[in-house]
Amino acid sequence: MFVDEATIKVNAGDGGNGCMAFRREKFVPRGGPSGGDGGRGGSIILESTEHQNTLIRFRFNPEYRAQRGAHGEGSNRTGRDGVDMIVKVPVGCIVYDAETEEQIKDFQRPKEQFVIARGGRGGRGNARFATSTHRAPREHEPGTPGELRRLKLVLKLLADAGLVGLPNAGKSSLLSRISAAHPKISDYPFTTLVPCLGVVAVDEEESFVMADIPGLIEGAHEGHGLGTRFLRHVERTRVLVHLIDGGDLAESDPRHDFEVIMNELSHFHADLTRKPMILVATKLDLATHRSRLLSIEQLAKEKGLPFLAISSATGKGLDRLKQMVLSTLRRMEVRVEEPGEIGVAESEIDELLSPSQTVVGSGSGTGKRPVPPNREPK
Ligand code: GDP
Ligand code: MG
Repeated sequence: MFVDEATIKVNAGDGGNGCMAFRREKFVPRGGPSGGDGGRGGSIILESTEHQNTLIRFRFNPEYRAQRGAHGEGSNRTGRDGVDMIVKVPVGCIVYDAETEEQIKDFQRPKEQFVIARGGRGGRGNARFATSTHRAPREHEPGTPGELRRLKLVLKLLADAGLVGLPNAGKSSLLSRISAAHPKISDYPFTTLVPCLGVVAVDEEESFVMADIPGLIEGAHEGHGLGTRFLRHVERTRVLVHLIDGGDLAESDPRHDFEVIMNELSHFHADLTRKPMILVATKLDLATHRSRLLSIEQLAKEKGLPFLAISSATGKGLDRLKQMVLSTLRRMEVRVEEPGEIGVAESEIDELLSPSQTVVGSGSGTGKRPVPPNREPK
């Protein structure tokens, strides 16, 4: 299985110190002890959520610290408790102690909560130490420190999106270009030729998992090439991104390329071709003739598929593609009835090919920055 891992540090809040004070009032000589207790430190609570599917967020943000308790004060005022901090983790996440490797918690359902680091206790103020024979205690305690733990989070990944297309269509290039991290691959049965998985971060909050499905050629479903091994992975993905070489150097008929892949998918399992699919023309930087791009776009229209042209070399269209995949996945989460029409893109080929136009993509804009021509966005 493919595994995503992250190590984080959680530090619960310290307890507040107890206070030493004595009442000092007019007409009350030798007032008694009045130092209040310190407040409890905030705890760190892990909570499972369905709205995350990778651990990439924890690489941006590996340390969590909860608020400390306030110190006690005179007049027997207790310090305020620190606020608990809730850290969300994806459902399926298993939490280990990073030091001992001991499993602490396995989150199976959404909205489960688990206190992973307890806040420190507040110290007692001197008022608490008063007895009949010990009337002016000066003792008072410091708060205890909040728990500090290093945790290892582990999540088995399921690919959300699968990249399909003939060899040389540009699948590997695309994945290596847009995935922010390559998760560790462990115990995979075909160690030499693994379908590569990448975590694609759309922004700090949103990400999805994309799988490169290599080896699809004519006859793959019959066992030609390596097809069937990888076709099994297509079954688990929720969106397919179908790449067709859009560069001038490609000699085949794009329609034929498309049908070869669709044929293999449907022979393996008819359901595969019913998955939402985005049709993508690749190698836009090599496309100086419009005819090939136009025919791929035309094909998308006929099939009722959203269309996009990209270049993994220059980065054109990649932000749009990430957004499109993400919004398709989101739409599937809220979907109640049959898979709906995703909507066919307006023709933007003219825009794609004119040198002044820098934003590539179809459908409505996302407000992303335009990519200057001939410059890689990074
Ligand atoms: P795969 O077989 O589908 O994984 O295709 P690859 O990603 O290995 O790409 C095949 C060839 O096309 C490689 O030589 C890549 O360098 C090249 N290639 C892929 N994407 C682009 C692109 O956007 N622009 C250009 N100029 N070349 C590309
Ligand atoms: Mg490849």
